Amino acid sequence: MSQTPHQPQRTCVGCRLSRNRSDLLRFVLSPQQQLLVDYRQKLPGRGVYTCVDPNCVVRAVERKQFHRALKVEKLDLDKAALVTRIAAEILQKIENLLGMARKSAQVVSGGEMVLNGLKTGGTYALVVMSQDISEGVAGKILRAAQKNNVDIFQALSKERMGKILGKGERSVAALVPGQLANAIRHEIQSYKRMSREN
Ligand SMILES: [Zn+2]
Repeated sequence: MSQTPHQPQRTCVGCRLSRNRSDLLRFVLSPQQQLLVDYRQKLPGRGVYTCVDPNCVVRAVERKQFHRALKVEKLDLDKAALVTRIAAEILQKIENLLGMARKSAQVVSGGEMVLNGLKTGGTYALVVMSQDISEGVAGKILRAAQKNNVDIFQALSKERMGKILGKGERSVAALVPGQLANAIRHEIQSYKRMSREN
């Protein structure tokens, strides 16, 4: 989260620090006066920003900073639910990026395929494993990934992974190094921050 003078800066309403706008979460008010997470930073209207940090989101809710910044008196906000919604937005972004990786052939999938790749020194930027993967396969993949210093991301079901990758169920996939893999790794960091237990 380094600051460069050429990037527009915004202030987090939780901790009051100024950061690059692209490193912050943006929120807007819907026409129904509900707070929306504008994860792509594209929705029209006055925006409010927080760090990608549950502490800042929670603090902003507790101190009524969303009300103040959006100039509304009534805004029904549950801080835990808001953090959960943000995590869901980020997960959706990760799914979209995985779909893009599939379309541009940046991802391989299938337990055997990935395992063989890892064992024969194939370079992967990241391994994605389903939450409902069988223990035996998970153990093998874990060991092989650790040996090759490849991170593992585990947050989706095998059914969901299959849908994204255009297959039946899929428990294991691996990203080849590149911009998409980097973008996914970046989102995973955000997801991990927002989805940790409060
Ligand atoms: Zn902050």
